[in-house]
Amino acid sequence: MNRTDLTFYLMGKKYGFDLKKMVDFTMQSQYWSADEIHKYQLEKLQKMIHHAYAKVPYYTKLMREMGMEPGDFKAIDDLAAFPILRKETIQANPESFLASDWKRHHPLQRSTGGTTGIPFAYYNDVLSWGLNWATKIRTFAWGGYQLGRDRIAVMKGGSMMREGKLSLRAKLWRFLQRNYSIPIARMNSEEMEQGIQDIQRYKIRFLRGYPSALLALAKHLSQTNRTIPMKGIFTTAEMLFPEHREEIEKVFMCPINDAYGCGEGMVGASQCEMHSSYHIHVETSYLELVDQDGQAVPAGVEGEIIASSLHDFAMPFIRYAPGDRAVFGEGKCACGRSLPLFDAIKGRASDLIYLPNGNVINGLSLPFEMLGKILKQFQLVQAEDDRLLLNVVPQPGFTAKDRAWLQDYLTSVAGDGVRVEVKELQEIAKTEAGKFRYVIAKKNV
Ligand SMILES: [Zn+2]
Repeated sequence: MNRTDLTFYLMGKKYGFDLKKMVDFTMQSQYWSADEIHKYQLEKLQKMIHHAYAKVPYYTKLMREMGMEPGDFKAIDDLAAFPILRKETIQANPESFLASDWKRHHPLQRSTGGTTGIPFAYYNDVLSWGLNWATKIRTFAWGGYQLGRDRIAVMKGGSMMREGKLSLRAKLWRFLQRNYSIPIARMNSEEMEQGIQDIQRYKIRFLRGYPSALLALAKHLSQTNRTIPMKGIFTTAEMLFPEHREEIEKVFMCPINDAYGCGEGMVGASQCEMHSSYHIHVETSYLELVDQDGQAVPAGVEGEIIASSLHDFAMPFIRYAPGDRAVFGEGKCACGRSLPLFDAIKGRASDLIYLPNGNVINGLSLPFEMLGKILKQFQLVQAEDDRLLLNVVPQPGFTAKDRAWLQDYLTSVAGDGVRVEVKELQEIAKTEAGKFRYVIAKKNV
């Protein structure tokens, strides 16, 4: 048994599923035809709806009220009869979303972070979670990284401790996976130098982490005119902005495979070796994109992501809106895989700031390049409906003129009747999970 298979075996044994079999499955399903994908998803959705009707109080009541029985669900389009499910509805009565036989599905309790919101607890069936892992391993393979065989450095929340401070069990587990962590809690130059030393000492050629953490490391290296050649870089959990991608790729001399994922609804999509569109992981979730009226949008048009998990029986998510936006792509990816595509992930709905004067500021449209010249970090906060606060960590040499420019720029973007304030800080706090948010809107849609 080679090291990769051993890693799969032990991971599977720990959680109770055959990870290798799941990985093999996803390696085949990535070449399914549109008909095969459709057949698989319809079958899984039908099973889920039967289950939800029989065992989950919220759905039993909902379907009775709609006058719908599970047998009425004959085509995937019939799913549109279900209302879009939002976080608030689940939070109002979480127990009503649990199946009467929920424990039978060996659910793992999980929780979403979120900067503004109350933590939101939910469950993923262990098999759903395992299959999701398999799609992640497939993404790694697209980027040339093989779990267990290659060494990787991970910079993300949950890996905030340096190797020396880990428990023996955690050390062994990481040793087996050849997984090295670089703490990102502070990202000061001492921590980053230690991270760089580790990368060089262990000859690490793959990186994985939040874009903001990788960007900080890349900036630190480029300030001292250093580069570190990597074979592959995987980013996830935050928006990867084009300017930041360029900066990271330059320092590490290698392209990034970015991914988008959300455990509620088991949504996943990731870039292949073409590094452009995002392949949707059709095995874990059925996805729709809708406009403000809940109508499906065609390819090329931005819409809100609606996800129906195919394997979460303990706590089913049917037509759930995680609050993120994307654009469907058309045609096939040049890599030859038939998995459908997102042309772009358009950030979270919560990255949009809605102002009382009717203007909407999208976090994606901020002039990152220009701001990066005068600021180390910034964060736009909607402090009140009509008051914007730009928290900034200035670069050395930041002048009163720069400050005035920021004030004017923001005032012109925000428009009439909106108060704007620029606040200089030493540091901008991250979320509990160590994510960095560029935009904090007051009200999510
Ligand atoms: Zn591709």
